[in-house]
Amino acid sequence: MDAGGLADALRDVAQTLRHHRDLGLREVAMTATAAPPVDPAKALAEQEAARQGCTLCKLCQSRTNVAFGSGSPRARLMVIGEGPGEEEDKQGKPFVGRAGQLLTKMLESVGFDRERDAYIANVVKCRPERNRNPEPDEVAACSPFLLAQIDTIRPAVILALGNFAAQTLLGTREGITKLRGRAYEYRDSVLVPTFHPAFLLRNPGPEFRRMAWDDLKLARREYERLTSRSR
Ligand code: URA
Repeated sequence: MDAGGLADALRDVAQTLRHHRDLGLREVAMTATAAPPVDPAKALAEQEAARQGCTLCKLCQSRTNVAFGSGSPRARLMVIGEGPGEEEDKQGKPFVGRAGQLLTKMLESVGFDRERDAYIANVVKCRPERNRNPEPDEVAACSPFLLAQIDTIRPAVILALGNFAAQTLLGTREGITKLRGRAYEYRDSVLVPTFHPAFLLRNPGPEFRRMAWDDLKLARREYERLTSRSR
């Protein structure tokens, strides 16, 4: 690697570490030897089991169930929303209410089957009361678990749904209307931000649907580009 390449790599590492710090991570695991390969299904099951009864933030006081994640542990597409709503809280699964039904259709429109092709999770795993935005301390408490999910799945493409997920993951305050329409490098993946299905349900006009459709096609193209290479 030449000096310029090394400088770029170190700048990327610094940016990632700053982002982790902003998300509330305080330690970085250092290993001298390569870690043994993990079975993603087992790893996710262990992570989910470890979150049952979680009391790391105040969302535990009002939640019914932890909605950790669902879908295929071997998915190359990961979908990330904001936090569980009422139905998700009841069932302990992300995106099973009305917004989830629209999400299923959105994924199908570009040839993804949500159970077979995607792993779905939220920034926070417990429902904020009355579906308010998660607060910074709640995001900080839950971020290590989202990062663990991402690092276990190692998705080719992350579809970030709505302002909150896109802003949290990209570490920006820019709104979704500005952020959407392009792909971003994120950890080892490509991140495509788009409108949240709940927003599309509240704003049913063709304009937002068309933009969301463009984003989904972009996600599909990136998926094809990245998954045609061997893993
Ligand atoms: N909205 C989200 O952001 N996530 C869900 O799981 C459901 C609705």
